[in-house]
This record gives sequence, C-alpha cells and structure tokens, in this order.
Amino acid sequence: MDRTTSTIPLSTNPINGDGRLKIALQKSGRLSEMSVGLLEKAGISLTKSRDQLFCRAHNFPLDVFLVRDDDIPAFLVTDVCQVGIMGQNVLWEKQALFTEKYTTLEEVIALGFGHCRLSIAAPTSFTYNSVESLNGKTIATSYSGLLATYLRDRGVEADIVTMEGAVEVAPRTHLADLICDLVSTGNTLTSNGLQEQEVILQSQAILVKNSNLNEDIQVIYEKLLSRIRAVLRADNSRYIMLNSPIAALDSIKAVLPGSASPTVMPLQGREDMVAVHAVCEEEVFWTTMEELQRNGANSILVVPIEKMLD
Ligand code: ATP
Ligand code: ZN
Repeated sequence: MDRTTSTIPLSTNPINGDGRLKIALQKSGRLSEMSVGLLEKAGISLTKSRDQLFCRAHNFPLDVFLVRDDDIPAFLVTDVCQVGIMGQNVLWEKQALFTEKYTTLEEVIALGFGHCRLSIAAPTSFTYNSVESLNGKTIATSYSGLLATYLRDRGVEADIVTMEGAVEVAPRTHLADLICDLVSTGNTLTSNGLQEQEVILQSQAILVKNSNLNEDIQVIYEKLLSRIRAVLRADNSRYIMLNSPIAALDSIKAVLPGSASPTVMPLQGREDMVAVHAVCEEEVFWTTMEELQRNGANSILVVPIEKMLD
C-alpha cells in the first residue's frame, strides 16, 4: 500500500466551499472498493480525474477526495471535506490521541463493512493469564492512543512502541513482547506465531460528518444520507413471495422474518389459497423457508431488493 501521506489542498474554504458536498474516501485499501461501491449503489456516478485523487459526481452535487484513511479526519476538521468514510478505529484513535481537535466530528451511521477488532496478541510461547500479564511489558502498535487509554483504565503499566505498519513482526524481531493490532480473520496473527488475548474494540466502516455544515450543504448531505440509508436497508432486506393456504395464513405470517404487514392477494382458480408478498428486513434463511413450507406454503421465492425508499 502507498505509504506516502496525502497532501491536503491548501486553499480551503471554511464555509463548506462551492456549494458541492465533499466526501473523503480511502484511496486504496480495504475500505476503498466498498466505499465507492456504496456511492454507486446510491446512484452517484463518478468520473475519476487523471491524478486519481479527486472525482466529480456528474449526477449529484458531490466531489470525492481519495486519500489515505488516516488523513480523513483531518480533511473533515479543516472543512476540505464535510463527510468521510473511515473505520471507527481511525476516528476513535484520533480522538484518543487529540482530545480537543476532533470534537466536531460526528459518527452518523455504521455501514456494515470493514469489520475488524483491535486486539492485543502475544507470541504462543508467552504465558498470558490476564491484563495483569502486560505489566512491565513492551507492546508494539499503530494505535497508541487507544492502547494507552485501555491500559490506563485497567491500571496496567506497559511500554508502548509506536509502529506505522508490520506490527506483527515486532515480537520476532525483539522490538516488543506483544502487539496490539487490527484483526479480522486472525490468519495474520496465526502465521506470525501470535495468539489473540484481549479485544480492545470492535470496529467497522462508518460515515462521519463535520457538525458545522451550512444550510445548502446540509440539504445535499441529508439527500446523500437518505440514499445511503436506503441502500443499507435494501442490502439487508429480501422480497419474499409464496402461496399459502388461507387456513394457514396466520401461522405463515408469524414465521415471515422482520415483516410487519405482508400483501395478501387472491390466486386465480384457487378458493383455498392466496399469494403472500412481503419485504423482510433481515436475511431469510433456508431454515425459515423450510418452516414456511412445513406450515403449508409452496412456490416460495426469495429475491434481493435493488432499491427501497419509504
Ligand atoms: P492507507 O494507505 O489508506 O493508510 P491502511 O493500510 O492504513 O491504508 P487498510 O489496511 O486498507 O489501511 O485498512 C483500512 C481499514 O480497514 C482499517 O482502518 C480498518 O477499519 C479496516 N479493516 C478491516 N479489516 C482489517 C484488518 N484485518 N486489518 C486492518 N484493517 C482492517
Ligand atoms: Zn492508514
């Protein structure tokens, strides 16, 4: 991954700029594809510029800045951008390190991707009993703010070695006794002979906004947020269609997951059966479909929903 620091444009307008909302996304990394994909699902088409740092949406008043994820909070507090997508871990780390600087940043909504946890891990040869085992030890991390807070809250005294990357090699190279790093599957830890011992926090990608938006930008932001909410709802919802015996309607409705009021329609030529259509705001599992079938339903179809607006 590119380790160069993104350059923050110097000519920033402190009152939200030129009437277009500006959003900061990770340029290249684990959140990039999903972040751009989210905007695309929200019907926003982007044209990339040649330097690939800046995109303009041509069907929505939005400009996109593609930067390193660690720089996104600074883009927001300086009003270069008014919203951004980042891991909760990034926002909370900045807020832990600089208690005054990032107070205007608000977490708006969790986006359901980029799930990970910040964990303390020890070499498998290390005898770990509890957080007390960390006393007097050296811990390598890129999250010194969050780690220091965690240790302080538990009265543990340990030395923190701040590293920008490749934290997992620190114990092997004797730079530190343990590490504190982001984990998703745990494969990187295992392949480096490390074992997860404490979870400091759970994280996922979030939409973050700067609290001082002017009226015009606020309107655009609300429209974007409403579309993002709609995309997230549609992603988590399924449209279910089935045929049900009239006599079994109540029990079938009771089995339909996360659906308040299904549509019930007559089936031509069938006095005893009706068609039931419902939006289920949660996953429909095979076990649920089998239960519907046991209750007398047939021709059960579950389809994804592309767009959804109340
Ligand atoms: P950049 O070049 O933008 O600074 P980076 O190397 O700091 O990139 P990535 O590794 O792309 O960042 O991770 C971006 C975000 O993805 C993290 O801040 C975190 O929120 C999330 N994430 C999800 N799973 C993991 C994981 N296993 N390791 C690291 N980050 C993860
Ligand atoms: Zn980063």
